[in-house]
Amino acid sequence: MTSALSEAEPLVFWLDDKAAPSPLPPLAGAETADLAVVGGGYTGLWTALRAKERYPDLDIVLLEAYTCGSAASGRNGGFCDASLTHGFANGLARWPEELPVLERVGRENLEAIGETIARLGIDCDWRRTGELTVATAPHHLEELASEAAVRGGVTLLDQDAVRAEVNSPTYLGGLWDASGTALVEPARLAWGLREACLELGVRIYENTRVRQLRSGLLSTAMGSVRADRIAVATNAFPSLLRRLRLYTVPVYDLVLVTEPLSPAQLATIGWQRRQGVGDASNLFHYYRLTRDDRILWGGYIPLYYYGSRINPALEQRDDIHLLLAQHFFETFPQLEGLRFTHRWGGVIDTSTRFCAFFGTALGGRVSYALGYTGLGVAATRFGADVMLDLLYAETTERTHLRMVRERPLPFPPEPLRAAAIHLTRHSMSRADTNAGHRNLWLRTLDRLGLGLDF
Ligand SMILES: Cc1cc2nc3c(=O)[nH]c(=O)nc-3n(C[C@H](O)[C@H](O)[C@H](O)COP(=O)(O)OP(=O)(O)OC[C@H]3O[C@@H](n4cnc5c(N)ncnc54)[C@H](O)[C@@H]3O)c2cc1C
Repeated sequence: MTSALSEAEPLVFWLDDKAAPSPLPPLAGAETADLAVVGGGYTGLWTALRAKERYPDLDIVLLEAYTCGSAASGRNGGFCDASLTHGFANGLARWPEELPVLERVGRENLEAIGETIARLGIDCDWRRTGELTVATAPHHLEELASEAAVRGGVTLLDQDAVRAEVNSPTYLGGLWDASGTALVEPARLAWGLREACLELGVRIYENTRVRQLRSGLLSTAMGSVRADRIAVATNAFPSLLRRLRLYTVPVYDLVLVTEPLSPAQLATIGWQRRQGVGDASNLFHYYRLTRDDRILWGGYIPLYYYGSRINPALEQRDDIHLLLAQHFFETFPQLEGLRFTHRWGGVIDTSTRFCAFFGTALGGRVSYALGYTGLGVAATRFGADVMLDLLYAETTERTHLRMVRERPLPFPPEPLRAAAIHLTRHSMSRADTNAGHRNLWLRTLDRLGLGLDF
């Protein structure tokens, strides 16, 4: 197993790309703007782009601490899922009465992303492949059947049918959603949005960390921006609005990418539709093919570090990358001998309700959207529109949603936070190996509508 990983570079496959744009100069001096956006991931880039589309006359500045798309937005799995609620089951549990609207708005959002990519000509291998959730334990079959019974537009697959799609000896059945997910090359999407913003006149400054937000003033090491309105799009990173810091925790998710499969190796798996795949465990794996027939393999253990620590050193974990490699070959034993070329990790903004929440500060001049919990590739475009609705006092279908108006419960402070997260993760792992049986701790969290996901 170690040999499969021995040549894996500690690099993000998607960012290790000749198409990566050169960094833009940092902000130096004092500027003014109608709208300032802090953070150049999908949330910030969609906010700047949608603002230009909705209000073409706005003068917009975007400030990014590193380079646009270098954080979660450039290093994710690229599953662009229509769900705004981190999956149907979570939406059903929290907002059953408005789930039909949330599902429709989520599908419209996915369509709009595809249309924008086509209109702007972004070369990011956008494919409406659909997604397969696979049962790898007997209790998953029952869970998937229950979901299929209440959710339209999905097909339950038996063992033969699921293995005809993607051939793994570990599969017992599956749930096939042919239309709700697209696959995309994450960094290419971020770079395409960045380019579109620049073309529309958005002034983007990279390597420009905002140190402070006070009234309408954003201060950086070498300059400042005074703005009429401010959108905070900083995801898992410590928020400029201190009171938000208890509402999300940074959780690391680790990923591997293999060398390209030969046609013969790919034929042993099938995978003709090239759909995204995830298993139905609490601690789940997600995987997909890349444009050049590699397999991206990620997930399984959400890693939290005491004090909500974020540090590039935490992106490499030999033990966890090794465990992921082991699970890969258990799933696809026919690929014995295949090597991994890239290994990395990235940080996710987990909220206790598993999906984004929104709000304003400083008398409505500042808005925020965060808490996507590992399912933000598509939902960030919706979040961007909500932020603009709130900043410009627009009453829309979005602002009427309970999902938009309600806030999640905060995480407790340390040391309780770390203890609760570790206990939750341990309990989820136990449930996976114990026929799905949820212990008293998980059942208590379920009753309170709390939890941990990625
Ligand atoms: C490994 C991994 C796999 C994932 N897989 C999927 C998937 O397959 N499908 C899916 O839907 N979601 C996935 N996600 C989640 C998804 O990537 C995120 O939800 C989404 O990218 C969030 O976008 P964002 O713009 O809010 O955050 P980010 O991309 O993290 O952007 C925030 C930006 O703000 C900048 N910033 C922070 N503080 C400051 C400051 N003070 N001043 C200036 N700039 C600042 C940061 O540098 C960063 O670039 C995954 C995430 C990870 C890490």
